[in-house]
Amino acid sequence: MIKEKIARTIGKYRLLNKNDKIAVAVSGGKDSTTILYILKQLGYNVEALHIDVGIRNFSRKNLDNVKHFCAENKIKLHVFSYKNEYSYSLPEIQQILVRKNIKLKNCSVCGVLRRNLLNKKARTLGFDKLVTGHNLDDAAQEFLMNLFTARLSLSARLGPKTGLIDSKGFVPRVKPMYFIREKEIERFSKKQGFNVNYCACPLRALAYRNMIRIALDNYEKENKNVKENITGYFLKIMPWLEKRYENNKEINKCRSCGESCKDEICMKCVILGNL
Ligand code: AMP
Ligand code: ZN
Repeated sequence: MIKEKIARTIGKYRLLNKNDKIAVAVSGGKDSTTILYILKQLGYNVEALHIDVGIRNFSRKNLDNVKHFCAENKIKLHVFSYKNEYSYSLPEIQQILVRKNIKLKNCSVCGVLRRNLLNKKARTLGFDKLVTGHNLDDAAQEFLMNLFTARLSLSARLGPKTGLIDSKGFVPRVKPMYFIREKEIERFSKKQGFNVNYCACPLRALAYRNMIRIALDNYEKENKNVKENITGYFLKIMPWLEKRYENNKEINKCRSCGESCKDEICMKCVILGNL
């Protein structure tokens, strides 16, 4: 069932081709492990990219799980770490930012650093597409977060495949599980007996996203299909958003690191510059 739904999404939104060299960003959690497993089953040419963010036991366990899973399923794995690439682990970065009284949320910092590293590695390793384990719950939450903070321009970059960002240095990011509920993925992962981490990241607790997640889940207890309705609504206004924010493309090169970005200096370099 889940496999067929994923195949349908890939077909309908032309997410992947059979001759693409595909990188799957695998965290060691249920979502990204499930999409890696299903894409391999569907006959796609997949390899795994894992980023070790350095959160003590949590990251060590994730890395172990990813290594075992890839070995068992004969999938090539590439591992990179914040410590090697950026000189600091995520908890170290967090400590420095707190000490310097710089108010950036853990998840935003980690998200920027991770996306940047995944894109750079996918590009240098010659991948055509970068797949993530984003699901329906993530999609609905992200749209609401941008709505509640009036950041429509950010929504223009969401959707099953990255729409606006159009640059030679950018590996297209796709989300084949865009229409699959988190609960359905969890059931599948448990049924398959995947050895994955079902716990949330220990640094996530205070994130704004968490508030939205809880509110949305509570609201769904009384109202069915809210998540499908939110993403359905979003996809309907997507063409308008893309047109409205056409100028928001990442067509500049960061003055410091040379990666694609829309300002003079990319967000990753702003964060690292603060350390
Ligand atoms: P999150 O932002 O934690 O919801 O993660 C979104 C997606 O990013 C996941 O489904 C994975 O595909 C990818 N991802 C998250 N953490 C990692 C990691 N440590 N290494 C590689 N990919 C990751
Ligand atoms: Zn930069």
